[in-house]
Amino acid sequence: MARLLEGKPIAEKIKEELRQAIINLEHKPVLASIMVGENAGAEAYVKSQKKTAEGLGIVYQFHKLSGDTSEGALIDFIQKLNTDNSVNGIIVQMPLPAKIDYKKISQFILPTKDVEGLHPANIGKIVFGKASILPCTPAAVMELLNSTGVDLYGKEIVVVGHSEIVGKPLSLLLLDKFATVCVCHIGTSKAGKLAEHVKTAEVLIVAVGKAGLIKGEWIKEGAIVIDVGINRVADKIVGDVEFEAAEKRASYITPVPGGVGPLTVTMLMRNLIEAAKLQ
Ligand code: NDP
Repeated sequence: MARLLEGKPIAEKIKEELRQAIINLEHKPVLASIMVGENAGAEAYVKSQKKTAEGLGIVYQFHKLSGDTSEGALIDFIQKLNTDNSVNGIIVQMPLPAKIDYKKISQFILPTKDVEGLHPANIGKIVFGKASILPCTPAAVMELLNSTGVDLYGKEIVVVGHSEIVGKPLSLLLLDKFATVCVCHIGTSKAGKLAEHVKTAEVLIVAVGKAGLIKGEWIKEGAIVIDVGINRVADKIVGDVEFEAAEKRASYITPVPGGVGPLTVTMLMRNLIEAAKLQ
């Protein structure tokens, strides 16, 4: 039976380190958060960010813009925050109204204030192993793996999902640990080869958003399983991996909820402290 890899205890330990780092800063760091229009999911995320930030001694500056804000007006707003020396980090909450392209917007956030680590300059630094601001979810996965004490050197790792925010940057971080990384995606599934690859994984990380995509019987005996997926099924939140069957084979497995999620917001705060130091 697998050991549960819970995010909360690791998050608490990192938060303690952040509290100390904040005490040593000259000023309380300021995180500017921008939300465009109404969205219940984003509001819940903002609430949790605010609570975590304030619990650490961070000033959470919330800017709510109306739903009819244009792309140009949002860029102007971001540029004002870029030049405001009292602001250390900027986050634009998702989802944005359909007429605003997030990929375009994220390029206007100053890389040293990009606390989500998604600016091309920050993503590019990962390739050179020189990133100080990492995308939050991949950083959370690396912390979970680190907590197992297992050396990733030479390990067969399979990452399922190749999005810009999770799978792609994560595969580069794993490569930097000298793991042998195989990245699977929709093409792998369509070619009927997903099971074949997953079965080889000593470490399996799944970030797709499809409940039950990874069958329990595909999990290699003793594998470490990190399930990033979040899916609502019949009023319950579940991941992408068949948990009950997988936990019988894995050595470590993340619960959903309670695995990656609690660490992601902590990584955002760690990035803010990094950003404050870079400025
Ligand atoms: P995206 O939708 O951007 O990416 C999903 C990825 O899965 C894509 O690469 C897609 O490939 C691939 N994919 C889709 N269907 C299949 C399939 N049948 N087999 C193999 N690969 C497939 O999602 P995100 O990366 O943003 O998020 C992934 C999941 O993680 C979601 O459930 C999200 O809610 C969750 N999440 C959780 C976080 C947390 O803190 N716990 C944070 C961020 C995300 P293609 O694009 O080619 O179709």
